[in-house]
Amino acid sequence: MQLALWTYEGPPHIGAMRVATAMEGVHYVLHAPQGDTYADLLFTMIERRAKRPPVTYTTFQARDLGGDTANLFREAVLDVYERFRPQAMLVGASCTAELIQDDPGGLAKTLGLPIPVVPLELPAYQRKENWGASETFYQLVRACAGPHVPKPGTLRTKNAVPRCNILGPTALGFRHRDDVPEVERLLAALGIETHVIAPMGATPADLATLGEADFNVVLYPEVAGQAAAWLRRSFGQPCTTVVPIGVGATRDFVQEVAKLAGVPATTAEGTLRLPWYSRSVDSTYLTGKRVFIFGDATHAIAAARVAEKELGFTVVGLGSYSREFGREVRAAAALHGVEALITDDYLEVEAQIAALQPELVLGTQMERHVAKRLGVPCAVISAPVHVQDFPARHSPQMGLEGANVLFDTWVHPLMMGLEEHLLGMFREDFEFNDGVQPSHLGHGTPSQSGREAAPAAQPMPVPAAETPHSAAGAPLLAWGSDAEKELKKIPFFVRGKARRNTERFAQERGIGTITIETLYDAKAHFSR
Ligand code: SF4
Repeated sequence: MQLALWTYEGPPHIGAMRVATAMEGVHYVLHAPQGDTYADLLFTMIERRAKRPPVTYTTFQARDLGGDTANLFREAVLDVYERFRPQAMLVGASCTAELIQDDPGGLAKTLGLPIPVVPLELPAYQRKENWGASETFYQLVRACAGPHVPKPGTLRTKNAVPRCNILGPTALGFRHRDDVPEVERLLAALGIETHVIAPMGATPADLATLGEADFNVVLYPEVAGQAAAWLRRSFGQPCTTVVPIGVGATRDFVQEVAKLAGVPATTAEGTLRLPWYSRSVDSTYLTGKRVFIFGDATHAIAAARVAEKELGFTVVGLGSYSREFGREVRAAAALHGVEALITDDYLEVEAQIAALQPELVLGTQMERHVAKRLGVPCAVISAPVHVQDFPARHSPQMGLEGANVLFDTWVHPLMMGLEEHLLGMFREDFEFNDGVQPSHLGHGTPSQSGREAAPAAQPMPVPAAETPHSAAGAPLLAWGSDAEKELKKIPFFVRGKARRNTERFAQERGIGTITIETLYDAKAHFSR
C-alpha cells in the first residue's frame, strides 16, 4: 500500500488508450468495472477531442462477479467487431479486471476474428501510463509490421529520396500535436520525406509499412523507444537519439538526421528568436536564476539543457517520475552538478523544492500547485497537465518555434527586470511591494483606493521554507527582531535562501537566536 493523493501517471491501460485514440482503424476492448469510463473524459475534456475514444468497456458490476464475466468480455469483442469493423483490435484488462483473471487475450483468440487482435499484458500494480503506451505501441507495431520483416541477412536498400518515420506522438501527449509539424518542417528542409507518423494519425495498414522508411525519428522515447528498438532489430532501421527541444538540441537533431539520411545538414533559422532574445540586455537579469526542474525524463532533461545553456539559469534541482529512465536523468543531473530526484511521490518533490528555494520551478501540473503554495513562479514543461496546456494556438516545444515558445513561457512567470530592481530599492511602496505578485501577472495588487488600502492587501503566501520551523526535525531557531528586519532588506526572490543558509549556519554553531551579526557572518561564510 502507498498513500497517494496525486499520481503523476495513470494506470497502464490509460497509456494503451492514448495509443488507440491517437490512431485510426484501431479499437480497444477493455475489461473493466463500471465507472472506468471516466477515462474518456481525459480525451474529450482535457484534450478536447471531438469524438469518443475508440474504447469499449465491459463495465461489469458487482452482481456480474457471481456470473460469467468472461462471457461478458467475449460478447463485447464480437459486438465491437460487428459495429466498428476495425482494422486491428486491442484487448486487455484494467486494474480490477486483472484481479479476476479472465484472460482477455485468450478469450479473444477463441473467437477467430479475421483481423489482428493484440492482447495487452499490462501489469497495473507494477507499471504506469507511459509504460502502458510504450508496450501497446510496441505490440501493435510487432503485430502489424511483423509479417513484413525481411529474412535474416537481407540487405537493406535505400530509398532514392531519404524517408523516415516519426514515432511517439500520442493522444493526451503534452504538445504532441504541435511538435509533429515542427519536426516535419526540419526534416523537409533537409529534403527528408516523412513516411509514417505513428501512433498519431496512423492506421494498422500504415504500421505494416513502417519498415519501408530508411530510419526512425524517436520523438518521445518513453512511448516509442521500445518499438524503435524492435524496428532496428527487425528491419535494420537506425533511429535518432536526440530530442529536438531547445536550440542546441534542435541543431544536434538536424546534424543527426542529416547523417542518417546522408544529406548535408542545413536549417533556415530565420524564425528562431530565442538566442537573440536571451542575449539581449533585457535578459541579463535572468543570469544565474535558480531553477528546479521536474517532469517526464525527456522533457526534464531537455529543459535542464535549455535552462542552463540557452537562458543562463542555474539548475539547482533536476528530477523525474519516469523510473524507467532513471539512468538517463541521473547522467543529465550529473552534467549540471546536482543529484537527480527520481520519485513519483509529489510530497518528496515538494520537500525538495521547499529545501532548495529556487526562484523558478519548471514542472508538471503538480509542481504548479506546489509552487503556488510556496509562492515560487512556475511554468509547465511536461505532462501531467490540465486543460490549459492543450491550447488552441500553435504551441510546440520542439524545433525552432518550440524554442521561441520555451523562452516566452519560462520567462513569463518571473518578475520583470525593472520591477525586480525597483522592489530592491523601494520596499515600502504601497502597490509594488514584495508582498505582491509581479504586476504583469495582474494579481495581488491592492484596491484602487490607494495608500490607505495597502494594509488590507493580501500578501503573497509566505514560502513554507521561510519559516524557522520548516527544516524537518531541526530545533526551532529564534530570529531577533533586528535580524528579521535586516533579512527583509534582501530581495524577496533570494530571501528564502538567505534565511535557510543563516539558519543552517546558526544551527551548526549552536546559536539559538539569530542576530544581525549572525546574518552577516553567515553571508560572509557562504560567499567565501
Ligand atoms: S480499475 Fe483501475 S482505473 Fe479503474 S477504477 Fe479501479 S483502480 Fe481506477
